[in-house]
Amino acid sequence: MEFKDLDPRLSRALSKLNFHKPTLIQAKAIPLALAGKDILARARTGSGKTAAYCLPIVQKILVNKEALPESSSERITTRSIILVPTRELAVQITKFLSDLLIYCSKDVKVANLAGNIPVQLQKSILLEKPDIIVATPSRALAHLESQSLIVYNSLESLVIDEADLILSYGYEEDLQKILTYLPKIFQSLLMSATLTKDVENLKQLLLRNPAILTLHEEKEDNLLTQYAVRCSEMDKFLLIYVILKLRLIHGKCIIFVNDIDRCYRLKLFLEQFSIKSCVLNSELPLNSRYHIVQEFNKGVYDYIIATDEGDFKNSESNVDEEVQTSKKSTSENKSKKKLRLQKKDKEYGVSRGVDFINVAAVINFDFPTSAKSYTHRVGRTARANQRGMSLSFVVPKELVGQNKNVTCSTAKQDEKIYSRVEKKQSLTNSVIKPYSFEMKQLEGFRYRVEDALRAVTRIAVKEARLKDVKSEILNSEKLKAHFEDNPNDLKILRHDTTIHPARVQQHMKHIPSYLMPKIAPPSGVSSTQEDNEDLGSIPFRKNPPKRLSKNRHKKRKNDPLKTFRISDTFSTNKRQRKK
Ligand code: AMP
Repeated sequence: MEFKDLDPRLSRALSKLNFHKPTLIQAKAIPLALAGKDILARARTGSGKTAAYCLPIVQKILVNKEALPESSSERITTRSIILVPTRELAVQITKFLSDLLIYCSKDVKVANLAGNIPVQLQKSILLEKPDIIVATPSRALAHLESQSLIVYNSLESLVIDEADLILSYGYEEDLQKILTYLPKIFQSLLMSATLTKDVENLKQLLLRNPAILTLHEEKEDNLLTQYAVRCSEMDKFLLIYVILKLRLIHGKCIIFVNDIDRCYRLKLFLEQFSIKSCVLNSELPLNSRYHIVQEFNKGVYDYIIATDEGDFKNSESNVDEEVQTSKKSTSENKSKKKLRLQKKDKEYGVSRGVDFINVAAVINFDFPTSAKSYTHRVGRTARANQRGMSLSFVVPKELVGQNKNVTCSTAKQDEKIYSRVEKKQSLTNSVIKPYSFEMKQLEGFRYRVEDALRAVTRIAVKEARLKDVKSEILNSEKLKAHFEDNPNDLKILRHDTTIHPARVQQHMKHIPSYLMPKIAPPSGVSSTQEDNEDLGSIPFRKNPPKRLSKNRHKKRKNDPLKTFRISDTFSTNKRQRKK
């Protein structure tokens, strides 16, 4: 199968998107779907699954509409529904479809019903009977029930994307009800990262003699280098500081934490050292979340601190693995109660579905609470034939809770979940290597880290969280109309601004030279641009590379403690960061 076999308007759009060759799943699924087969595909984000189902759907709509006379009322009707678990994914798929339809936007219309648009406005959009509807099951059902969406005589295809996630979100009942509003015959395409028992049930319910595609992507899996380090909860902060400040990882990182307060604790901590980061969690409005991911993908931000709290709730296959996060500290519960500014979004999802591009590394700052969550988190890197690395911090049981200010309620389970993860990884011949470094080399940084953490109080975290949500709501609501008219202005809207610099101490911005020379990227990791793809190894070596200090010649002659100047070595790093 080649893209040039499709409608020329589609193949032109694909060239524009730089899609020159079908991915494995596209090559298999598109001809089968065009031949009218029902499909169950085991496909994860990164495989090219979106185009694998969008292309045949759109191609068929174009062909079917062209067969009808210009004046036929049948030309205007809803022919396809795409159901997705999260709003993020809905936005992403709608955007992809709009790009795909750039040369036939008059012939095929798409509507996203999962967004923030008021239901009344959605109803008026539905009056125009868009050819393709993208929605979460609950939204689709609401419109089917209120008869603002009628497809009984018109539906040609139904796609359920991330089916296992949809089912784990408790949408099964909604799906069953949706089916009662659909015609007897239509084509079904089911995409799922895992073939769980629930997906099997859905397959029985929905698919007729389907083609089952389970594609092996071992090649991609091997591109991921996995590291883990056992350390105390305080040392997690020490390590992240050193890794980010010295830029031991080249490129963009997603740093996962296990709850929303931790997002802000870590952000405020990093702010102490002038390390900028964005926060991504279910409390932020959808527009902000989407914009953050877009900008991150474009390379505007290097670090996202994310939670994946929405991705694994109610996941039955996860039940035995889930850590009981409900017993969180009472202080956290209290602050949550007060934070009623914005409800958490039930349809939020980060570690699955959302298309993060060119992520160099995933850092599990807080170890995930299930093996499944681990797989999906690390799956945000090493995608589309690119290399990537993951680094996980695992807190040994005996070191949990030593310092209340930095403890995480899920850490008690780190070792247990880690051994499950190791077992699971070994099934695919993947190993998690120990992240080796000399702790002694970090000791010099400990004082600054402890000092910085003292400034990040519980109140500071709470205030930062409130402030961020407030300002993002403002960004999202007040400026929405403006940005719709002036999309280019979005560029000036940043999400990584300093939120609440709790007692910032200017000297923390810089790394003194007496600390700097002791730590450096390992041998073999080059600083040149083309080697920036050489990811996956960040251990320290004893001898520093020359590039770390612009005054290195001077330093050899002098005692670094005596000649230390604040901007000494850091200025070189600063320059490197400039894009
Ligand atoms: P998906 O699995 O659909 O989320 O796609 C993952 C990424 O691969 C997205 O960034 C797509 O734009 C990209 N992609 C999908 N198909 C192709 C293709 N045939 N050629 C190049 N990039 C693709």
